[in-house]
Amino acid sequence: MPELAIARPTAAATGRAGRPRALLYLDNVTVSFDGFKALDGLSLIVDEGELRTIIGPNGAGKTTLLDVITGKSKPDNGIVFFKDSHDLTRLDEAAIANLGIGRKFQKPTVFDNLTVAGNLELARKAHRGIIQMLFAPANGADSESLDSESLEGALETIGLAGRRETLAGNLSHGQKQWLEIGMLLVQDQELLLLDEPVAGMTDSEREQTAELIRGIAGDRTVVVVEHDMQFVRSLEGRVTVLHEGRMLMEGSMDAVESNATVADVYLGR
Ligand code: ADP
Ligand code: MG
Repeated sequence: MPELAIARPTAAATGRAGRPRALLYLDNVTVSFDGFKALDGLSLIVDEGELRTIIGPNGAGKTTLLDVITGKSKPDNGIVFFKDSHDLTRLDEAAIANLGIGRKFQKPTVFDNLTVAGNLELARKAHRGIIQMLFAPANGADSESLDSESLEGALETIGLAGRRETLAGNLSHGQKQWLEIGMLLVQDQELLLLDEPVAGMTDSEREQTAELIRGIAGDRTVVVVEHDMQFVRSLEGRVTVLHEGRMLMEGSMDAVESNATVADVYLGR
């Protein structure tokens, strides 16, 4: 497909010494619903290992952006590439999850009557099961299970090492959200998309979540959609501001907060 080869990132995203590789590359992406453009010519590059936060007022297109990356919505036009080589607009949701892209929705979806460890094991099995069903139906079941090192590592990362045998139903709201992030970790997802991960959390849970997410980024790439400005600041990542389906600006939280246009449309000043 020559036209894609031309349009894909070259030196700017992949070549220069010291610059990380672009993991996610969107160019001129438009998504319409009955003529209304939820995304309107959006271009965005997220580097490997980056922690990127997406902010913007209600209706800005943040969730639609995650829908496009995960294959839930298909753009009318534009380019969406993962790791330079996978055209996500041509793949369905299961195939995209299999590439290493995991999403956490706002509402926790853990199983209350399983333990913390049980939820992590099930998440691993469900993911592996889908992969096997799609790609290797004849293989044995050995690769499904979660080894104890990966389990301990995930429990440590999400701050639930002392809770492995606790029923998920007995966790706090915040702990359930962390467990769900752990479920993406044991699935070995390389890109984690988190939609409003601190909604409904206490202040101290928010702080712990910021620490947790900062700890995950680097090894993995994390894109966080969030409203809470204090939390966004504490993530210390690059911030992309969306407005009416377009990128308004991108930069540090300091740059975003001192930008007059952002203040007008988003902060309401
Ligand atoms: P955000 O997450 O930034 O609040 P969304 O991406 O959810 O914004 O929505 C962007 C715009 O697109 C909104 O005006 C919303 O009503 C519209 N929209 C999103 N999904 C659909 C859909 N499936 N059908 C019709 N309109 C939609
Ligand atoms: Mg949303």
